[in-house]
Amino acid sequence: MQTNFTPAQLADPHVAESEAILRKCVHCGFCTATCPTYVTLGNELDSPRGRIYLIKDMLENGRPADEEVVTHIDRCLSCLACMTTCPSGVNYMHLVDHARIHIENTYKRPLADRLMRATLAAVLPYPERFRLALKAARLGRPFAGLMKRVPLLKTVGVMLDLAPRGFAPPSAAPQPGVRPATTKRRGRVAILTGCAQPVLKPEINEATIRLLTRLGIDVVVPEGEGCCGALVHHMGREEQALVAARRNVDVWIKAADEGGLDAIVITASGCGTTIKDYGHMLRLDPAYAEKAARVSALAKDITEYLASLDLSRQEARNVTVAYHSACSMQHGQKITTAPKLLLKNAGFTVRDPAEGHLCCGSAGTYNILQPEISATLKARKVKNIEATKADIIATGNIGCITQIATGTQMPILHTVELLDWAYGGEKPASLEK
Ligand code: SF4
Ligand code: SF4
Repeated sequence: MQTNFTPAQLADPHVAESEAILRKCVHCGFCTATCPTYVTLGNELDSPRGRIYLIKDMLENGRPADEEVVTHIDRCLSCLACMTTCPSGVNYMHLVDHARIHIENTYKRPLADRLMRATLAAVLPYPERFRLALKAARLGRPFAGLMKRVPLLKTVGVMLDLAPRGFAPPSAAPQPGVRPATTKRRGRVAILTGCAQPVLKPEINEATIRLLTRLGIDVVVPEGEGCCGALVHHMGREEQALVAARRNVDVWIKAADEGGLDAIVITASGCGTTIKDYGHMLRLDPAYAEKAARVSALAKDITEYLASLDLSRQEARNVTVAYHSACSMQHGQKITTAPKLLLKNAGFTVRDPAEGHLCCGSAGTYNILQPEISATLKARKVKNIEATKADIIATGNIGCITQIATGTQMPILHTVELLDWAYGGEKPASLEK
């Protein structure tokens, strides 16, 4: 794609990067067929190619974001299916990240939208605040239907609907310290405990620590780690995201330098995609660029790390699993076969739902901010999953777990919960029910 940026514009490294990305796009449109919003809405401006044109026009003309650009960029799930499909290697992720920062810096959203985004950014990344918010949601839930009919309160109503009915008490898993290997030691990793996940499903990190220590791996929970920054990063709140990234980089580099780390293990693929991008996010910060690149190189999804441990083959068990590959897993991190091979090796029968490349509509805060598109995608995803006639659903991202769980009666678990069970752990409590 031809571009017309001035030398003065290209002196800004963010613009220079976006220009290089834009120049790779050959307008072929292959990406439109696999874009969930184009498939759902049928509008070129809700396709990757359409959004690329809008971003190009906005950046090239040095214009503040306008309502049209914001509408179509907000509808993008950042699922990155377009990057998997694109034959020209267009890095849509970095382009749309830049567009979102530009929107945040130049566009004044309506008051209700600003308040909602500020609340999400102030609550979701902090487990204690998030836990309190979920408790408050119990009181507000009876009014959710009413709120959804009032434009100013619509997103609050949606949020109340999405809040889980029950959630577990705080777990010991995120407490700082070292969980030593319980068999012959063969490795040492740090684990990202995360922000929303340990509140919504603490059993995921508990299963991870049990499984890894049983396999001979010391698991370090470093003091001071927190939210990876993905939630605010996707809202264009770059400074808040970079503060989170720098804090985690400091914590993990300290842990790596003190005791050595083979990996930083991540159990939410949405977080994994962002942490693997820390090297890029902090590339212009001389104090952090090198350390952040080191952290990104150490970051591994739990299934990626387990695949390196050469686990023994288990006897077949009479359980069929529909494997839902989160977008951040398959498109963001390009991890496609490892989770399924691990499950098969552990004795499960694995089925692939149709249209596996399409997003379930969760996408961080997307299901709160874009409830209609999100609900359409969820219904489509659930239909495809239920058509597999599997017993249970497995996936590797807490966002997908909470989203899909609100659309089906099938039990849905994190892949690592099933692997922990297969390799000597208790049967997951959610399956006992
Ligand atoms: S990230 Fe997903 S929703 Fe956004 S343009 Fe690409 S395919 Fe479409
Ligand atoms: S597939 Fe790639 S090159 Fe083709 S229009 Fe989409 S982003 Fe551009």
